[in-house]
Amino acid sequence: MKPADLAIINCSHLVTCQGPIPKRKDSLLDIGLVDKGCIASYRGKIVFIGEEKKFNEEILLEKKSVQIDGSGLVGLPGFVDSHTHLPFAGNREEEFILRLKGYTYQQLTERGLGIQTTVNATRQASMDELISLCLARLDNMLLHGTTTAEAKSGYGLNLKDEIKQLRTLQELNKIHPIDIVSTFMGAHEVPKEYKARKDDYINLLIHKILPEVKENNLAEFFDVFCEEGVYSVEESRKLIRAAREAGLKIKIHADEFAPLGGAQLAAEEGATSADHLIAITDEGIKKLAESSTAATLLPGVSFFLMQEKKAPARKLIEQGAIVALATDFNPGSSMTESMFFIMQLAVFSLKMGIEEAINATTSNAAYALGRHKEVGSLEVGKKMDLILCDAPNYPHLIYHFGINPIKYVIKAGHVVVKNGKVLQQSKYQTD
Ligand SMILES: [Zn+2]
Repeated sequence: MKPADLAIINCSHLVTCQGPIPKRKDSLLDIGLVDKGCIASYRGKIVFIGEEKKFNEEILLEKKSVQIDGSGLVGLPGFVDSHTHLPFAGNREEEFILRLKGYTYQQLTERGLGIQTTVNATRQASMDELISLCLARLDNMLLHGTTTAEAKSGYGLNLKDEIKQLRTLQELNKIHPIDIVSTFMGAHEVPKEYKARKDDYINLLIHKILPEVKENNLAEFFDVFCEEGVYSVEESRKLIRAAREAGLKIKIHADEFAPLGGAQLAAEEGATSADHLIAITDEGIKKLAESSTAATLLPGVSFFLMQEKKAPARKLIEQGAIVALATDFNPGSSMTESMFFIMQLAVFSLKMGIEEAINATTSNAAYALGRHKEVGSLEVGKKMDLILCDAPNYPHLIYHFGINPIKYVIKAGHVVVKNGKVLQQSKYQTD
């Protein structure tokens, strides 16, 4: 008999999303469904998944163990949100209202609104202020089932404030149950004081900020906004190569508005993921499909910016790309922490299947963050990161849209959300 300190018995549907991971083409339809499933963990790691009879034969529950009756609940892996701009200050409602009156994202940027508003506010905020803003957002994420989240700098755009953002993330990772994966994105924009001398800023990034990030171990990934009017393909390539040399893995904001070829760049440079891809070309799709780079789609952006053009999810899946989904949580173009909403948008607006959307927010999302050996699927030996939803079956999670069905969130074997309330603020050491 194997010991366990947490068990959920008889889920209506237990969705495991088990491997092999990453999932391409038809394997995206496989969600590893267990009917009337039981799942148990010990010291934060999954030790059993299967039916009740086998559970009773194999598992010995410890005296102080937590037991949850899963009847009427759907269990699935905690969501992995692989693309967020979490640490920012200020808000963008003024710009939002103008946009509703017809101003485009790029017109607003030209008027000094847009990202500059957030850069100014984030530069002015202290680290304590940023931490308290982010804690509320992380609680929102947790309440909506996210148990691992990537988070980028990129609203500092100078040495002091980029480092401040990354130190904020380092601190949050210590105190909040969500595991945070940090990305250095000093190349999110060209700061206004460097507009006329972009090369100087690129040199500052490569020779001053990047070494500081590396020396203090402040980020695992590097990201660049490869876009018309921001960083060209060749400038992006130069930055990526410097970052890789410094030991960082690569993500690229690619082909969001203009088909510059960011997807091809990501595939050529072995990036972990290429994100956005609303304007990707057929050539870009082919290159990504042949590569091991994840294609991360962010349908919250086309929804929030009310764009007719959307990422070609069906084409990407049919050709064999590793499709993942994320929120792109940020104040200017996707103000949501909810991965349920993103899944629903993927189904209703990108024409993804329900099963494809589930894998794209869990198993493939973990791959897009290089964490698929630990999280993103429910398998023996992986972290017990699980959400339990008040739903009779898994299609109901999309069918009943616009609500939050979360009943429980379990992080590393601990109940952290129960009945819509965050229970724990501190991190658990389970290893
Ligand atoms: Zn983004």
